[in-house]
Amino acid sequence: MTLAAETQSIVKQFEYTDDDVNKGVKEFLRQMDEGLQKDGTSLSQIPTYVTGVPNGTEKGLYMAVDLGGTNFRVCSVKLNGDGTFNITSDKVAVPKALMVAKTAEELFAFLALQVRRFLEKHHGDHFEAHIRRRMTVSSPEGYKDEHVFRMGFTFSFPVQQMGINKGTLIRWTKGFDIQDAVGKDVCALLQDEIDKLHLPVKVAALVNDTVGTLMAHSYGAPGSHGAVLGAIFGTGTNGAYVEKMANVKKPMVGEYDLSTGEMVINTEWGSFDNQLNVLPNTPWDVVLDKQSVNPGLQMYEKRVSGMFLGEILRLVILDLLKNPNISFLKDDNSSTNDLRSTTDIAENSSIFQQWGVDSAILSVAAGDHTPALSLLRKGLDDSLQIHAAAFEDAQAIKSVADAIGRRAARLAAVAIAAIVLQTGKLSDPARKDEPIDVGVDGSLVEHYPYFRAMIHEALSIVDGIGKEGADRIRIGLAEDGSGVGAALIALVAAGMEKNSAG
Ligand code: BGC
Ligand code: MG
Repeated sequence: MTLAAETQSIVKQFEYTDDDVNKGVKEFLRQMDEGLQKDGTSLSQIPTYVTGVPNGTEKGLYMAVDLGGTNFRVCSVKLNGDGTFNITSDKVAVPKALMVAKTAEELFAFLALQVRRFLEKHHGDHFEAHIRRRMTVSSPEGYKDEHVFRMGFTFSFPVQQMGINKGTLIRWTKGFDIQDAVGKDVCALLQDEIDKLHLPVKVAALVNDTVGTLMAHSYGAPGSHGAVLGAIFGTGTNGAYVEKMANVKKPMVGEYDLSTGEMVINTEWGSFDNQLNVLPNTPWDVVLDKQSVNPGLQMYEKRVSGMFLGEILRLVILDLLKNPNISFLKDDNSSTNDLRSTTDIAENSSIFQQWGVDSAILSVAAGDHTPALSLLRKGLDDSLQIHAAAFEDAQAIKSVADAIGRRAARLAAVAIAAIVLQTGKLSDPARKDEPIDVGVDGSLVEHYPYFRAMIHEALSIVDGIGKEGADRIRIGLAEDGSGVGAALIALVAAGMEKNSAG
């Protein structure tokens, strides 16, 4: 068997046809509806208690923190009231050990410490006053209310929300696994650690990153109808959209403002079709899932998001390497005059470690249009210790990587299409010919070449959307989405506090 033939058969297994896309959309719509009817479904469809999107006139200084799959970000956001904002932010990588800590406290104490550092560094004056004040009061409640920062907490994991600043962790995703935290109110966990440090900060709102993205994208387009969907295609993937309350049939525990008749729903689409009714399932998807911390869960995410695409590629490469019938990454396969040993892969190459292949290499592959694939070969050398890869080998890797990326983008289109159809905005006479705004954020949409173009192409073949509909769907980057969005929801929550107090 030749490498080219083998590669072709692998690429074929990653094909996700127009027909597959349409079947996917239908099933997605069905699972969305199921999630609105009852709890415990594959697509969770979590009511967020956020009942409207901003219009750009919001104003004030708020804090926001964002625990994502990789980093923890602390920011303060000044909303200027005209759709613009100023943001000050610091970011640290979350230490891997804390992602799998024994207790929730270990993680949340680390987060609170970053909040303190941020306040010391950027809001020293404000902070000093409170340190002094702390000497005269015994509890954080003793701070003068107007001196307490309202903070939005962007928490990028599935949470059963009980109110705008209350929600229990359903399960961890991505690389996190701290069993102690499951079932606990993550807002309270953070507030407790903040209080231990006597910081003048109140966690006013708990926000999924997709909800923040939706809010931020609406704030940034004053005068428009607001975005219909906020989505993340990063380490993980998920989306939040505006649903009519009349469609939310399952019981809700907390109170909320009824006036808009709408609520933002966090779909948690990472777990779309965990039962694999329609999702593609190659042998490499099967292995990846089995070796993950959450087998059987986040099955859509495991085919779409940045944390997993590199791992799928790695598993394919390992199979190619093991295949005695083909010459791959070996000396005798070379068509160049490189001086190479029999194998060019360092023994300690990260290709041999789980999660060792970062999805960034897929971006390099997709963007490499050089005749000799020199960018990709350099990337393989730098990041995977695959030295002097032969052209044919690089070509095989590029074909597989592109197929994995294309499948991911077309699967992404399934979710976007279903939600656009669910909102009915394409056929809404009040919106005739207007663009339908979708705010997106995350490493894949930011860095993977043509990701959005491939999504668009797939949207145009969806029944009920078509070319004309796809042309109206405007997928825009919601920059600083989670920071600004969380600040906006903290603002809304602060307003609600006042209303219930007075
Ligand atoms: C989480 C979502 C989150 C998404 C993007 C998923 O793994 O379950 O809550 O929105 O990642 O960060
Ligand atoms: Mg994020």
